[in-house]
Amino acid sequence: MNAAPAHPFVSSEVETQACTCPGCGAAFAPGGRGLGKRFCSNPCRRRFHASTVSDGQVLATFVHAWIKTRHAKPGTRNAEICRYARQQIAEIAGLQLERHEELGRDPVAFVAAMMDSGTRYIDRTRK
Ligand SMILES: [Zn+2]
Repeated sequence: MNAAPAHPFVSSEVETQACTCPGCGAAFAPGGRGLGKRFCSNPCRRRFHASTVSDGQVLATFVHAWIKTRHAKPGTRNAEICRYARQQIAEIAGLQLERHEELGRDPVAFVAAMMDSGTRYIDRTRK
């Protein structure tokens, strides 16, 4: 799954390559409407997204502070805040990744599938 489909919003019929579930690492047959199935099952998809939400809640404020202070002049308090926030993000995300790896989850596979589909997170809509 390296090349993006010709039309990003229609799953390709020729795409018969097995997909890897980002929720559990299992291989499954592609299919489904729209962008196609990304997870092996609905419970797996829900568990993955529930963990994404709880991971994100912990990280959100640090990410926002980091984005807001990332161009601060060196030596200022904001530069110090930026460095601290970035350090916390790396530390927290590292712990979260260890837990994901123990559960067989692969956030990189999830992002790769989204990138290959031509969809930006910000453009996603529920229909
Ligand atoms: Zn799964």
